[in-house]
Amino acid sequence: MTARILDGKALATEVRNALVPRVERLTAAGQQPGLAVILVGDDPASAIYVRNKGVACEQIGIASWIDRLPADTAESALIARIAERNDEQQVHGILVQTPLPKHIDSAKVLESIAFEKDVDGLHATNAGLTLMGTPYFRSCTPYGVMKMLESINAPIEGSHAVVLGRSNMVGKPMAMMLLAANATVTIAHSKTRDLASITRRADILVAAVGRRHLVTADMVKPGAIVIDVGTNKTPEGKLAGDVDFENVKRVAGWISPVPGGVGPMTITMLLTNTVEAAERRAGIKNPAQ
Ligand code: NAP
Repeated sequence: MTARILDGKALATEVRNALVPRVERLTAAGQQPGLAVILVGDDPASAIYVRNKGVACEQIGIASWIDRLPADTAESALIARIAERNDEQQVHGILVQTPLPKHIDSAKVLESIAFEKDVDGLHATNAGLTLMGTPYFRSCTPYGVMKMLESINAPIEGSHAVVLGRSNMVGKPMAMMLLAANATVTIAHSKTRDLASITRRADILVAAVGRRHLVTADMVKPGAIVIDVGTNKTPEGKLAGDVDFENVKRVAGWISPVPGGVGPMTITMLLTNTVEAAERRAGIKNPAQ
């Protein structure tokens, strides 16, 4: 058996193309969607992520602004910059690129973003609304995973979903979204005992840990849907996920690759949230709803 590939890149293109007429409609109504990104410091990976977000916005007609602040920016100065962005009419979404330098309290910074502009979906209000099952902005990565599952008509309801990782950005909101879709959800983490006995019972397995080859073929139920969120570097400097792709694909029913899986969907959901923010402001109903 060879798993079918869950092609995040192709799905991302499809979802982004569907955003274009929505962006055009907003722009024609004088409400071009706008995303403000704030980058603090000169971490090379963060700089690439931020540039990619700007390019993705441009490709579908979303305006974007990137503030590049020096690594020694004071926390208060960063929060003051966010306050300005909160007040700007042309800005519908604000994203602060993480990780932030150590002297800055990330949680405090995140909370300073107006939750109505928190298109990353990480503000406590947005996390709480996701938990309540009444999301306003969903965290982009798990939102992208849900879209991937939707795209293959995955039978989520009644399934056993196992999420590896419990971060506020990925693991926890992922579990909440699967729960809202009526899966029975198990969350595993670094203190979980006998991980394999849990993963082997998963109909849907989402790995969001950051450890290469954590998920091996013997840990996967035959026919399971395996989604790999992890991003790790191989010794050769290539990108790899948490799943031993070559061997797990012989057991799984569906598998998402790294690269070309969850990554492109994460940025796509950021664009989706930004368009939605502009539609809310303009009082335009999303035609897909
Ligand atoms: P994180 O904050 O470091 O969380 C990692 C989680 O994995 C923690 O909950 C940790 O448990 C758990 N963990 C560590 N070792 C484990 C083990 N041996 N078995 C089971 N669980 C274990 O990372 P994150 O922000 O959630 O990101 C996770 C991965 O996804 C990273 O590789 C990141 O780069 C990637 N990512 C990719 C995208 C994308 O768009 N493709 C987006 C976001 C993140 P404890 O809580 O007990 O420490």
